[in-house]
Amino acid sequence: MKAVQGYIERKSMLYLTGVEYGDYTMNHVLGCAHGCKYPCYAFMLKRRFGQVSSYEDWLKPFLVSNTLEILDKEIPRLKSKIQSVQLCFTTDPFMYGYEEIEKMSLAAIRKLNNAGVKCIVLSKGILPLELASYSKENEYGITLVSLSEDYRASMEPGAAPYSTRLSALKALHKNGCKTWVSIEPYPTPNLIEQDLETVLEAIDFTDKIIFGRTNYSKEITMFKGHREFYNEQAEQVIAFCKRKDVQFHIKEGTISNKHRPADEYL
Ligand code: SF4
Repeated sequence: MKAVQGYIERKSMLYLTGVEYGDYTMNHVLGCAHGCKYPCYAFMLKRRFGQVSSYEDWLKPFLVSNTLEILDKEIPRLKSKIQSVQLCFTTDPFMYGYEEIEKMSLAAIRKLNNAGVKCIVLSKGILPLELASYSKENEYGITLVSLSEDYRASMEPGAAPYSTRLSALKALHKNGCKTWVSIEPYPTPNLIEQDLETVLEAIDFTDKIIFGRTNYSKEITMFKGHREFYNEQAEQVIAFCKRKDVQFHIKEGTISNKHRPADEYL
């Protein structure tokens, strides 16, 4: 197990996100040892606002030590307005190998659930099976953009191997939990040649799939025909989900045609 770099305190924890499929979110860690190189939008943002100075600093997580105390104050005030809380947008709640972060995330989810608040979790770590005993309203998700461990090691160097990530999600599914998979940011063939169908087949048990292109990357825009490529891949996701009766959502900007197919994300 790895130790966090240190501890910080914050004044607030729950806030409304402006993002496409988010309601409230909480980010109780600064930094992320997964160190994704897509690039990571959270890292770019934190660096721009001077909260971290370098990629190396970003890899050393600081836990917000007063997370639970802030939740105790904020939950009663906000719970009537909250539809769901997503953990997390700017870090990973189940950072691979960080037991202390996992414990804090579980305690926060428990606290939110006890107040009747649903949690939506997204991780590139290993989702603990213990979550199966939490509210059945919760939704547990992993990011999975490939099945190639070489690609994972180069793009998500500190994250959990794909196979263990997937097994943990399957275990939650088998235990009656709602699950989802984020296939985002999906790479173009100049980054990795792969068949999207194999990724989709590996996650056909899940309740919902979110698919999105890679943004903020020159390598992607350099790939000739990237727009057509993403249109085709999005169509493949939609056809797969309809065939398998899986909910889906295609992220804005992924399909570049004027006539965007209707989403069925609930
Ligand atoms: S897991 Fe998320 S927050 Fe962490 S480095 Fe990767 S993209 Fe950034």
